[in-house]
Amino acid sequence: MPSLRANAKQSRVIALWLAASALGFLAMTKFDIITQMLNLESEVQYIKGIGPKRATMFERLGVTTIGDLMLLMPAQYQDRRTITPISQSYLMPQTCILGRIGKAYEKKLSKNLSLLDIEIFDDSQMTYARFFRKKGMYSKIDIFATLKKSFSAGSFAYIYEDAKAELGAKYITVQDYEIVSSKEQTPEYFNKIIPIYPATEGLNQKVIRLAVKTALDSCLSQYPDISQLLGVPSARQSLSQIHYPNTFEEAENARRALAAQEFFVLETALALSRADNKKVSKPQKYEITRKLLTPFKNKLNFEFTHAQKKAINEIFKDLRQSEPANRMIMGDVGSGKTVVALSAALLAVENGYQVMIAAPTEILAEQHYLTVSNMLEGLGVNIVLVSSSSLKKKSQRDNILTAISEGDSDIIIGTHALIEDRVQFKNLSLIIIDEQHRFGVMQKGRALSKAAAADILMMTATPIPRGLAMTVYGEIDMTVIDELPPGRIPIKTYVVSEGTAYSNAVKELKNGGQVYIVYPLIDESDKVELKSAVVEAEKLSKSVFKDFKTAVLHGKMPPAEKNDVMRRFKNKEFDILISTTVIEVGIDVPNATVMLIQHADRFGLSTLHQLRGRIGRGNKQSYCYLIGSVKGKNSRRRLSIMSQTNDGFKIAEEDLAMRGPGEFMGTAQHGFPEFKAGDIIKDADIIERSKQRAKELVETDPNLEKPENQTLKKLINKTFSAKLKLTNIA
Ligand code: ADP
Ligand code: MG
Repeated sequence: MPSLRANAKQSRVIALWLAASALGFLAMTKFDIITQMLNLESEVQYIKGIGPKRATMFERLGVTTIGDLMLLMPAQYQDRRTITPISQSYLMPQTCILGRIGKAYEKKLSKNLSLLDIEIFDDSQMTYARFFRKKGMYSKIDIFATLKKSFSAGSFAYIYEDAKAELGAKYITVQDYEIVSSKEQTPEYFNKIIPIYPATEGLNQKVIRLAVKTALDSCLSQYPDISQLLGVPSARQSLSQIHYPNTFEEAENARRALAAQEFFVLETALALSRADNKKVSKPQKYEITRKLLTPFKNKLNFEFTHAQKKAINEIFKDLRQSEPANRMIMGDVGSGKTVVALSAALLAVENGYQVMIAAPTEILAEQHYLTVSNMLEGLGVNIVLVSSSSLKKKSQRDNILTAISEGDSDIIIGTHALIEDRVQFKNLSLIIIDEQHRFGVMQKGRALSKAAAADILMMTATPIPRGLAMTVYGEIDMTVIDELPPGRIPIKTYVVSEGTAYSNAVKELKNGGQVYIVYPLIDESDKVELKSAVVEAEKLSKSVFKDFKTAVLHGKMPPAEKNDVMRRFKNKEFDILISTTVIEVGIDVPNATVMLIQHADRFGLSTLHQLRGRIGRGNKQSYCYLIGSVKGKNSRRRLSIMSQTNDGFKIAEEDLAMRGPGEFMGTAQHGFPEFKAGDIIKDADIIERSKQRAKELVETDPNLEKPENQTLKKLINKTFSAKLKLTNIA
């Protein structure tokens, strides 16, 4: 008796869940499938039995149509190929049994809890299939009556049993079951490997399984198959195998075949748009006169690194070609992308053209404006700042806009405000987009509307793993700055307590260094957090840091005030800058040697890396202190990665692995398709092959006119037309 109690408790949660599954199954058996009327575009609510309510639940799984259902990839599989005798099933963690159904017994365990035992016999032993019912659950339906009815409908039951009873116990807990009328009848979901789909609240496996099966049974033959263009197994066969594989190997092969098809559609689209771009020849021509480049180099108090020189050479070569340049410069934080971009900008200005430098935030645009104005002082280059604040006052706005439209300004630096219609350029030839990962593809497209054949240079500090880069950027030219300026000492990163962090920060301050303290601001409207940064600043400046000068910086401050604080911090008028993540990108204060991050567990890896990139920019040892809870598995992993490496590439890969490509790239922002079967990390080889194949295909059939390429053409139009014009991506 005591053992039974203990088990009853253990099993309660599972049993309640099971009861829910069982009910779902019963509801589904009523499904009446109208196969003829469905097509790939039909919404799932038209599968009888699903309806609008379940359809919204499916939407959470990214499924709106029958076609989506087919591509709903199993998250894992359950191996139900072997039937185990009841007498042995106790010895194994999860097994399938097949037995004759006997009598059913109902027992009340307490005021609120009852159980139902159903006898199951096989040649080896008898056992009870046990279900629980809690009072208040399913008040409208008598679940036990329903179960009894379901079991009495047939004479045998296949049961997948889950939670383990103690050795030799006389009952099993049921995770899933299927009733058959005889041992000879073939079961639907047993004697095979079955799919387990990603779970979402309100949809159990049986509902999803039946919906997917309906989709496959009714519309598989309509699924667009381009496998013959690729020489991979047929997509239709692969789709049925990925849901119901005979072996695990078959499942993986099916996935790869489907992935090849997905990547091929994208790669062909990219190859087509690239071919389009090639046809454009640009009006701008650049001569390397060195009129500005030489004095610029002479003014710098450092030599370019080897990697910077290589990047500049590649860019110049690109700019001097007849088609528009389209290049991405990837370089870790602090690798010196600004002077590389500026060299390109000066080449354009030397030749009488205008240059746009776009940054994702106002504060970064302002920083660039200050840095560039400083670096180019005395060279006779006109630089203007275009931001929502610089355009606010009418007189100033008119001056700026006129200077741009009449060609008096050479380098135009700004935020998204740059791409507004009222900003008209006289002869824009080069668009430089800084921190491209934050800027977004859509904006890039709009920037291009200022000068259709402009050369484009993008910079990013978020290195993108090879497979992803190939996929997302297709044949975009890529330059990697894989070297930091000399004399940089690797930042030391520690996960510490607040006290330790503060006392170490004080040591650095006494050595003449400057300190950043960052608080999270989870969302722009999160006033509580905002207050906490301000309140904390107040407290800290009166206690631990009373001997030093502190300043506060947060997103809600007027831009002019923000910039003033930054400028004074750079001038060493303040020792400590207490801030929200507004300082995340681009800020450059080489004398700052400590980055102290509060609630570091709440930040993502790329933000942590960007924040840390604000220090270690001079030739002094810098320290990053992460203060935060390490209770959660993911936050522990993030903090540990941060303390182990400074390598942005490694961090990006970990980030990608932890968050998945959609979130990593900010898919919404990029307007890019998510892959269903394809795995950007695992499938680099498939991507490469698809890309090669796509290139060959576009060479032989540049407008996709051949009959055998029509399905592919349709797929490309369907995938991309609604999202964005491809010319904006590649
Ligand atoms: P990021 O790649 O993160 O944009 P920046 O262009 O802001 O990096 O450069 C970081 C810092 O390094 C700046 O202070 C810049 O002046 C300096 N820097 C850039 N190139 C060199 C170099 N070759 N030698 C020394 N310092 C450099
Ligand atoms: Mg930068």
